[in-house]
Amino acid sequence: MSEEPELVPLARPVIGEAEEQAVLEVLRSGHLSLGPRLPAFEEAFAARVGARHASAVSSGTAGLHLALRAVGVEASPADAGTGPGPEVVTSPFSFIASSNAGLFERAVPVFVDVDPVTLNVPSAAVAAAVTDRTAALLPVHIFGIPAPTPQLEGLGVPIVEDACEALGAVHPDGVPVGGRGHPAVFAFYANKQMTTGEGGIVTVGDRATKDRLDSERNQGRAPGMAWLDHDRLGFNYRLSDLQCALGLAQLGRLDELLGGRERVAAAYAERLADLAERTGLALPATDADLAATEVAGARRSWFVYVVRLPRDLDRNATITELGRRGIQTRDYLPAIHLFSFYRERFGFREGQFPVAEDAARRGLALPLFPTMTEAQVDRVVAELTDVLTARR
Ligand SMILES: *Cc1c(COP(=O)(O)O)cnc(C)c1O
Repeated sequence: MSEEPELVPLARPVIGEAEEQAVLEVLRSGHLSLGPRLPAFEEAFAARVGARHASAVSSGTAGLHLALRAVGVEASPADAGTGPGPEVVTSPFSFIASSNAGLFERAVPVFVDVDPVTLNVPSAAVAAAVTDRTAALLPVHIFGIPAPTPQLEGLGVPIVEDACEALGAVHPDGVPVGGRGHPAVFAFYANKQMTTGEGGIVTVGDRATKDRLDSERNQGRAPGMAWLDHDRLGFNYRLSDLQCALGLAQLGRLDELLGGRERVAAAYAERLADLAERTGLALPATDADLAATEVAGARRSWFVYVVRLPRDLDRNATITELGRRGIQTRDYLPAIHLFSFYRERFGFREGQFPVAEDAARRGLALPLFPTMTEAQVDRVVAELTDVLTARR
């Protein structure tokens, strides 16, 4: 008789009584959207990352869209359908939403290859990619490692930070990610550092930008305007009070959630060191690795634990075999420029961004969530060790 091994999932939200109670209170209040939880959540979140203001939105993607519009990446009705749009300089090694958000406004993505250690865009490469058509820079703090944002600020081009994987991270100059003044976008899907089920938020440093974000997420209604009055194009990118209540409860235990992830990442680093040495498995950058890059002194926030498999190993077969043994893993992440519609629309091709492509080919996300036990870490390490050494 064979017993199915208990699954170690890739991710799992931490939801307790505080979250249940918070959502229940909103349900019972009858005020399910645009109620008191919205400003309460925005203010608490802004305070947490040291930002003046924050606008909660329905997803990270919605936040990126509104943030880009707010810094001027906006398709004007006059030139709709004619000529190429403005350029946004960004990373090909990211979740597709960071690049798609510009496409919503007919922007052209200008990718630069990433740094092999941080997997973020290097500031020198971004500087070299800036032209008079560049409308914005969109650095992504991939896997929770801060991109070289202070350096990019010297280029004189508007910046939107994709901080969707980096809540809790700190820039090298001590400013928390989200607290620099230009728009920074966070996301609250169930696998992120904190969750509202679906959701996002944009932190900003000035009231005018906050007002514009608030208006555009709510059908273009200006502050103080009547419900069916609209003075600009808008969207429905609102976050409900149910979600804001959930967000407030998660924010209240954010240190515990971040600490849990950090503990698991440290356990992996320690227990996988030997295997990495023997097999050519590449582990995520350590603080010592980061110290030799242009973001030396930055503090990362652990979002995912992505290893890069040895080059000669079949990743799909590895994922399948680990899955058979009850360990959920996945390929993470595909390079954006190689998706078929990016190739077709912009003419991207293989070989253009070799560092991003290598990371995309070899990346494997291991289970990582705050409540993961030592025993679960041990199981992942044991099965991965077995799968990687069995073939040799
Ligand atoms: C999660 C994520 C997003 C988008 O967030 P959604 O809430 O799913 O829209 C954008 N960029 C990066 C890098 C992400 O990880």
